[in-house]
Parts: sequence; structure tokens; C-alpha cells
Amino acid sequence: MLTDSYGRVATDLRVSLTDRCNLRCAYCMPPEGLDWLPTPEVLTGDEVVRLVRIGVESLGIREVRFTGGEPLLRRDLAAIIEATAGLSPRPEISLTTNGIGLGPRAAALREAGLDRINVSLDTLRPEVFRKLTHRDRLADVLAGLAGAAAAGLSPVKVNAVLMRDLNDDEAPELLRYCIAHGYELRFIEQMPLDAQHGWKRTEMVTAAEIFSSLSARFSLSDDTERSRGAAPAETFLVDGGPARVGVIGAVTRSFCGACDRVRLTADGQIRNCLFARSESDLRTLLRSGAPDAEIAERWRAAVASKLPGHGINDPSFLQPDRPMSAIGG
Ligand code: SAM
Repeated sequence: MLTDSYGRVATDLRVSLTDRCNLRCAYCMPPEGLDWLPTPEVLTGDEVVRLVRIGVESLGIREVRFTGGEPLLRRDLAAIIEATAGLSPRPEISLTTNGIGLGPRAAALREAGLDRINVSLDTLRPEVFRKLTHRDRLADVLAGLAGAAAAGLSPVKVNAVLMRDLNDDEAPELLRYCIAHGYELRFIEQMPLDAQHGWKRTEMVTAAEIFSSLSARFSLSDDTERSRGAAPAETFLVDGGPARVGVIGAVTRSFCGACDRVRLTADGQIRNCLFARSESDLRTLLRSGAPDAEIAERWRAAVASKLPGHGINDPSFLQPDRPMSAIGG
């Protein structure tokens, strides 16, 4: 098992398949993009699958989420999912994506073994989408969402980040849209993980603000049917249910004490926290021909040293060197 010194057990593996993305969301990266990882440094599909297999067979990983960057940019995504679905015990497999190009691929991904999907959608207004992402792709994202639902990947979850003076007035509109389409919406507080280091606590739209803006239009009640467990989202029933909405207060209502996640970057580094300042290199071991047991041992040690919390609220907090797109959200 992957246990840390505070008694938490990591069972949920987040795998970044690429640091590249076809959007430039303002809370993530600058309009001009970033210096992407050189291709030889990025794990091949076989390497990803080997590490996931070690996680599942030897280290107690039970859920695998593929993310990025934008994971749909990997042509071998379906093959990686299929190989993961063939592992024993079969882990639950999910994907976080911006949805661009998802429509025509959703059925094949589901067939390959994808169980669940989260699609990021921060606005329904084309001009705001352009400003926020520096691309004109709102229609593609909405088509991707529809494609995921049509492929039976339901309930499709939608992730939204609100930014001050950009889309902070859109929470009710987004919720109405998601309810009408049968999607489950979750708002994520903006975290200090942007490559340009532009995050400011004073400008962040907080979970409390999101709650109050939704409460002006909807009646939100505690979701007593669903236990939160290690899930980052606090969920609420909307107008008595069954529709739900989630709020992930990553900064103001941190949930580090219940964290069960561990991350593998596209270049084969283990991170025991989104905000970790150090990483453990599995790629070099992998490529030097190390046996599974040695890789598992380094992975165990990486998780054992996990800190009790992300420390964003400590005066000494330092943002990690890698931005969100290179860690895998
Ligand atoms: N490209 C995919 C997507 O758009 O979902 C997957 C990668 S993206 C990094 C994963 C999630 O992280 C998205 O929902 C995105 O909105 C969120 N995200 C990125 N930067 C963030 C930040 N600074 N604070 C909070 N969430 C962030």
C-alpha cells in the first residue's frame, strides 16, 4: 500500500499523459503557451501502462484518472485505457478533458473501458470563452459534452473555475445549463498553479462566494445521501434534488486530511501532492531496466514523505515550479 506518515493511503492515481494543451486558460498558462516537454522525455504508452500496472498490482491503486495538459491530444489514449482496464483488480478509470474533439471519440473511449468523465467548461458565453481560453472553441466543448453523454458516460461531470471580472457572475447560468443537460457541475476554487504566477488570494472567487451566488437563485441543501469520503467536492442538492452541485474549496476549505491521491507526470515523476516541491523520478529507473519491485519501492518512499497539507495558507508557501498543465489536474 501507499501509506504516508499521517496514516493516509493513496489509492487514486492521477496520470498526466501530456503537458500540451490546445487551450490557454488564463488560470493555467499564458496566451503564448509554454515550452512543452521534449517528446523523448514523455512516457510512451507502454511505459505509462507499466507504471499503472505496478500501482494497481503492487501498491493498492484502485482508481486511475487520465489527465494533462489535454489527454485527448494523445492518439494512444484509447489503447492506454484498454490496457488499464485489463489489469487485475480492474481499477475504476476516468478522464479529465476540455472536451475538444471528444464527440467522435467518446464511444470508442467508453468501449475501451472508460468509466467516468469530467469535462472542463468555465463559461457559456462565446466572447468570455475566447477571453478566458484565447481560443474560439466553445461550440467544440459543448459538442464534446453532448458526445460523452450520448456515449453513456453519465453522469458527465463538468468542472468550472470562476475568475474575478471574467466569469464570476456565471455560476447560476452554468448550473442551469448543466441541470438541463443532465450534467453534474462542480466549481473549483482557483489555485496558485498558473505558469505565469498571477494568482492572487484577494482576487480569488471563494467557495463561500460561489455558494452565495448560487443560493440567490437556487435552494441548496446538504447532500446527506452521498458521503464525501476522500472526494474533493462538497456536494449540495439543488432545489431538493435529485440534481446536485459541487464546490471544491481547494484553498479556503482544504481537504488534505482525507487526500487519497498521488500523481504521475507525463515525464514519469511521482508527485505526492499538487503543491509538492519535490518529485521522485520513476522514468530513469524504468528506462534503466529496473525491476517492478525497485520501482514500487521508490514510489512507496515518495508517498511516505507526503506533508500533512498543501500549505497554501502558510506565510512560507511557495508555488510549485511546475504549473497545473504539467502536473495533471
Ligand atoms: N485539459 C484538461 C481539462 O481542461 O480538463 C485536463 C487538465 S486541466 C489542468 C484539469 C483541471 O484543472 C481543469 O478542470 C482545469 O479547469 C483545472 N485547473 C487548471 N488550473 C487550475 C487552477 N489554477 N486552479 C484550479 N483549477 C485549475
